[in-house]
Amino acid sequence: MRRALITGGSRGIGKAISEKFQACGYEVITPSRQELDLTSAESIEAYINKNKEVYFDVIVNNAGINDIHAIEEITDDELERMMATNLVAPIKILRGFTGMMKKNHYGRIVNIGSIWAVVSKGGRCVYSATKNGIHGVTNTLAVELAADNILVNTVCPGFTLTELTRKNNTQEEIEAISKDIPMGRMAEPKEIAEVVYFLCSEQNTYLTGQKITVDGGFAEK
Ligand code: NAP
Repeated sequence: MRRALITGGSRGIGKAISEKFQACGYEVITPSRQELDLTSAESIEAYINKNKEVYFDVIVNNAGINDIHAIEEITDDELERMMATNLVAPIKILRGFTGMMKKNHYGRIVNIGSIWAVVSKGGRCVYSATKNGIHGVTNTLAVELAADNILVNTVCPGFTLTELTRKNNTQEEIEAISKDIPMGRMAEPKEIAEVVYFLCSEQNTYLTGQKITVDGGFAEK
């Protein structure tokens, strides 16, 4: 049975990705924040040490946070938390677990980016920096690990209807945003999960180093 490590699996896009892999017969490991706190160097080190003999066929760096502030309003705390969660932790996780993938000569990695690493919008300076940064990780590892049959891609979701999106936006706001999307609606989390699954499946044998934007045509307007 193939084994997948998926961060941020408790809700939203990560939950949909976990359900897809489970439905396709994978053993899915989705550590809770108590088991693996991505803002804590000690927690990450302990989790990797504890699992260093475990072989993951698939790693999906999905967990992410997005604080929105104008440049003058960004606090050191949010800067550090976003960098730690969205960029530093994924690199450490890959540093910890790609060795076993190499040994097994098989691995599929997806880093979750964002539409804000494809097009820009004010207030997203740090978030976009992290999401563009994670694609640099993807590019580099795609080249570095290709000979080990490890394929690495970035999936950039557009507006996605998660619990958080529903909580942060009124129905009217969701409808207004939807009008701005060529498909006329936001993505369902499972539509992002389908793309992640394909990239991480055995069907994908040659696609690596790519940024796949799943945004209903938003960036093409
Ligand atoms: P979400 O609903 O806010 O869920 C975030 C997940 O990340 C939760 O499982 C959360 O765990 C986990 N997480 C956050 N900080 C963590 C930490 N310090 N340690 C461990 N786990 C942590 O997120 P989402 O909207 O599904 O987004 C998932 C990914 O897609 C993110 O990378 C996001 O940037 C990206 N994305 C989302 C959208 C969108 O419209 N939703 C669009 C573009 C990109 P807890 O349950 O413990 O909080």
